[in-house]
Amino acid sequence: DDISIASVAVDAGGIGDDEASQHRVRGGYDRLVRWLAARLIHHQVAVHYGCFVRRIDWGSDRVQLDYGSGSASAACAIITLPIGVLQSGEVEFRPALGDHRAAMSRLAMGQVVKLVLCLREPLWRDLAFVHGDGTAFPTFWIRSADGAQQITAWAGGPHARALSGFAADQLAERAIDELAGLTGVPASRLAEAVRHHHFHDHHADPYARGAYSYTRVHGGGAAAVLARPLGERLFFAGEATDADYEGSVAGALASGVRAAHQVLRQLGRSGA
Ligand SMILES: Cc1cc2nc3c(=O)[nH]c(=O)nc-3n(C[C@H](O)[C@H](O)[C@H](O)COP(=O)(O)OP(=O)(O)OC[C@H]3O[C@@H](n4cnc5c(N)ncnc54)[C@H](O)[C@@H]3O)c2cc1C
Repeated sequence: DDISIASVAVDAGGIGDDEASQHRVRGGYDRLVRWLAARLIHHQVAVHYGCFVRRIDWGSDRVQLDYGSGSASAACAIITLPIGVLQSGEVEFRPALGDHRAAMSRLAMGQVVKLVLCLREPLWRDLAFVHGDGTAFPTFWIRSADGAQQITAWAGGPHARALSGFAADQLAERAIDELAGLTGVPASRLAEAVRHHHFHDHHADPYARGAYSYTRVHGGGAAAVLARPLGERLFFAGEATDADYEGSVAGALASGVRAAHQVLRQLGRSGA
């Protein structure tokens, strides 16, 4: 495809080289978001939920955000929209973004189909990964905890595109058939063991427009451009703006801290 090999090489030297340092948030990642929101609320920051921003006016001395049912204005704004949403044109910037827009076009939103099957009881004891050759889902991983077992069926890039348009039930059926074939467990037994399945179509989601960003060929340096303030008023954050940990929660968090310091400096407050 069009991914930059140079960016893959940078990634390989980063977060992925030390498995031992990777952790999971017990109870799910939304606990992290809730924790961040609680800190904002504690500092009396108004949080507006459910507002799909349609237009961002940053041409005057304040930034104005329009979200259909209302608007908000501020001295400056940190934009954390996913790169897929920024590229879709669904959010209009006035004036247009110039170099930042050009940098966005050097990145792309990758596609992933991730389906989770939750089993009533463990079917395997010592199986962690299953790789298929020629299967729609090339990778399955299996986790056991608290007497239950969870299977993640994963397809990325071209594999994900081939599965686009499939309904969740169809994907589950496919995953069950393929994993049964790869492990020798009868498909009927596996299907019976599935208590429920979860699937989210990130590509169709207007709040995401894809799974996570990647750097396109000749796209090196795009994240660094996006990390620069624009007109002393707009600041960009989000995983796509972090050159070190693009496409990850670590990158999203680091970019948020970086943007917060930039805003504090801009407002003349200590943030360094
Ligand atoms: C299937 C999958 C598995 C992943 N696994 C991992 C993993 O194991 N480890 C890891 O580190 N990372 C993983 N990631 C990547 C990680 O989830 C992202 O990199 C990270 O969440 C990006 O954070 P962000 O703040 O940049 O963007 P987001 O979390 O996407 O936040 C952007 C926000 O903007 C909002 N928004 C969008 N449009 C509008 C609009 N018009 N108006 C107002 N708000 C809007 C969205 O609702 C969202 O809240 C995974 C991603 C996917 C899809």
